[in-house]
Amino acid sequence: MLRERSAALFDRATKLMPGGVNSPVRAFVSVNESPIFIERAAGPHVFDVDGNKYTDFVCSWGPLILGHAHPAVVEAVKTAASAGTSFGATTEREVELAERVIEAVPSLEVIRFVNSGTEATMSALRLARGFTGRDRVIKFSGCYHGHADAFLTDAGSGLATLGIPASAGVPEGTARDTVTLPYNDLAAVESMMKASGSEIAAIILEPIACNMGMVKPIAGFLEGLRSLCDQHGSLLIFDEVITGFRVGLGGAQAHYGVLPDLSTFGKVIGAGLPVGAYGGRADIMQKIAPLGPVYQAGTLSGNPLAMAAGIAALTELSKPGVYDALEERGQYFESKLSAVLDKHGQPGLLNRAGSIFYLWMNPDASGAPNNYDDIKQGRPELYAQLFTKLLDRGVYLAPSGFEVGFISTAHTQSELDSTVSAIDDALAQIMSV
Ligand code: PMP
Repeated sequence: MLRERSAALFDRATKLMPGGVNSPVRAFVSVNESPIFIERAAGPHVFDVDGNKYTDFVCSWGPLILGHAHPAVVEAVKTAASAGTSFGATTEREVELAERVIEAVPSLEVIRFVNSGTEATMSALRLARGFTGRDRVIKFSGCYHGHADAFLTDAGSGLATLGIPASAGVPEGTARDTVTLPYNDLAAVESMMKASGSEIAAIILEPIACNMGMVKPIAGFLEGLRSLCDQHGSLLIFDEVITGFRVGLGGAQAHYGVLPDLSTFGKVIGAGLPVGAYGGRADIMQKIAPLGPVYQAGTLSGNPLAMAAGIAALTELSKPGVYDALEERGQYFESKLSAVLDKHGQPGLLNRAGSIFYLWMNPDASGAPNNYDDIKQGRPELYAQLFTKLLDRGVYLAPSGFEVGFISTAHTQSELDSTVSAIDDALAQIMSV
């Protein structure tokens, strides 16, 4: 498959932007490839500037649960844009999207919209600190909460991909206030809380970890965190930037029946437009300016195009049967792909939560991974080989063995079947050498 125009564009880009990209994993570094430059997309497909067509499982890293350029979303954005792209003032659409999100997510009483997941988690942490009067925060290895200073230790996503343990440029004092513990290790959290609970403003986590590949919470983990937070007056923050409106309308919190004090969102609620949100208990949210002393603001927050896209997406997602259909497709993909992995001597294992899946390339895996240390036992070089072979066969998986894949409502059985046979074909080549 020729990718000459992409290669030429990447040459130009590398002179202009760090690594040629505006977000690190897009550089395809860990899969030893040169990035494809996308020209357009429709439904389950993206098309690069060389005219190649790929079945897309990146889906803009999660927002596109309805697939690319869904007509309802495109129409809503067009209508909104023709009435003005930004006002920096309140609009009816913000009220409408707030009502819908609050109605769908069990723990939400009040919400604020921002422009990205990073802003959402950063603001939620500031709020937790302002509310509790405490500075320290517990996070978990391999979880990614955006790139605010406090969260850049032992984090997932791009840091995992590039093997960066902690970002340079984060002040020592800031890093000191972040305690990083192993995911699913309730005993470690218990002893930390016993020793220093009165200093902990919040425990933040991805209720299903999706930035170190995928790690699901083991039975009792989320419940245990909830009760430790209650005992010590700390806030529990669920970062649902990926899981929100993805594993169901109510997110992971509805799925597991554990309610956090604060939640953060992004991705799906903007349907591909830049958006984020944080929200939770009204008594906590009232500490935010203009009501309270915790400051947070944004020129483009509640942007009319983003709100319109979000409303359109949630309208589609609220139709009966949407999540059941996604679960069915996920199950179908899982069973077909697991059979192919079996056939090739189990070079990897498929982990899945609804329409989120993770292909953990690890021939030695004896079961699903429980934490970041487990995940690191995987074989990224096998994933890199698979990635390249799939790209050549018109399948676009995440360009990193630490990232999950997403199925949208636009991915039909036909795309899933052709993807599974491409993987079968690719593995036959990889495993034969
Ligand atoms: N939290 C989680 C769980 C995420 O997956 C991400 C991004 N992948 C973020 C926060 C940050 O969101 P954004 O990239 O929109 O800043």
